[in-house]
Amino acid sequence: MTTASQLSFHVQLSDHARTAAEREQVLANPGFGQYFTDHMIAIDYTEERGWHDARLQPYAPLVLDPATAVFHYAQELFEGLKAYRQAGGSIVTFRPYANAARFNKSCRRMAMPELPEETFVESLELLVQTDREWVPTTEGHSLYLRPFVIATQVGLGVNYPSKSYRFMVIASPAASYFAGGIKPVSVWLSTEYTRAAPGGTGAAKCGGNYAAAFVAQRQAVEQGCDQVVWLDAVEHRFVEEMGGMNLFFVFGDKLLTPALTGTLLPGITRDSILTLAGDLGLEAVEGRISIEEWQAGCESGELTEVFACGTAAVVTPVGTVKGADRAWTVGDGTPGPVTMRIREELLGIQYGMRPDRHGWIHKIA
Ligand SMILES: *Cc1c(COP(=O)(O)O)cnc(C)c1O
Repeated sequence: MTTASQLSFHVQLSDHARTAAEREQVLANPGFGQYFTDHMIAIDYTEERGWHDARLQPYAPLVLDPATAVFHYAQELFEGLKAYRQAGGSIVTFRPYANAARFNKSCRRMAMPELPEETFVESLELLVQTDREWVPTTEGHSLYLRPFVIATQVGLGVNYPSKSYRFMVIASPAASYFAGGIKPVSVWLSTEYTRAAPGGTGAAKCGGNYAAAFVAQRQAVEQGCDQVVWLDAVEHRFVEEMGGMNLFFVFGDKLLTPALTGTLLPGITRDSILTLAGDLGLEAVEGRISIEEWQAGCESGELTEVFACGTAAVVTPVGTVKGADRAWTVGDGTPGPVTMRIREELLGIQYGMRPDRHGWIHKIA
């Protein structure tokens, strides 16, 4: 097994990096995931050599044989986290070792080789340090980091997992994920499609989960909703997640989030909120909630707020819910006070305005 100390990065700086003026133009209106910085990280893996050829190189297209395994059998997975420019000027990430650990958990599920956690984090550090000017200074903006790994073996045989892989990290300046700020989202309850079944890949951050979800996302939009809410595969009754974000249900000062049954993605934002709730004097539990309980709770007033959470969109209120045979509003449809407190606390820690009680902030530069 290759250890971190054996891997040193070869650095090749771009000779066509964008000028300061070009960069400022992008940073003035970055959107989400549309523009990329001047460099990227790549590390190769073969069975004989383990992880090798770690490098930082100019951002560029890949040249891959059309028979490369990833194109046919989708052996691929990814991570997502952000670099923040804090009030004092330093650049930090939030819980990068949690992403490294989840990356390796996804690797095990997808029969891919694990990457030493130190190497994962060093890759992020090197890329962000090199492209530090791309970390936005605008309040609420960040540099989104996208580590991923693909199967690179050439050939169409499916008897074995690929024998070779490439790990990469790219970076993209980001404004807020949902255009229009913290407007509550409307959600569509998908009873026709299933995101993940027991024993499947629901807990792995793999592209295939997304590929299988787009048809339901399109249906949600056709129904006039912003996002899909996924239900359990067996009864189509119990809430799982939003398919890119986890969900929290607020009953006064008590929070409930669906338990990690193996069919939903273990979000790092979700995990952080379970801890932060205690700091804010809220009780937080992992459990189970059906769509009937969700509707009844809103109608009785017991269920006061619902919010979605994830790295990209932080904490986003859910305003309205629609299913094939039902529709209702959460609270009065506007962002609730508990949702906003949690959002502000989390952003406060990430941007250095609130104390980091749990050692979540990892300084990069
Ligand atoms: C990444 C992701 C999340 C959120 O995870 P965070 O670590 O909080 O960003 C939730 N659901 C799915 C399906 C995801 O891919």
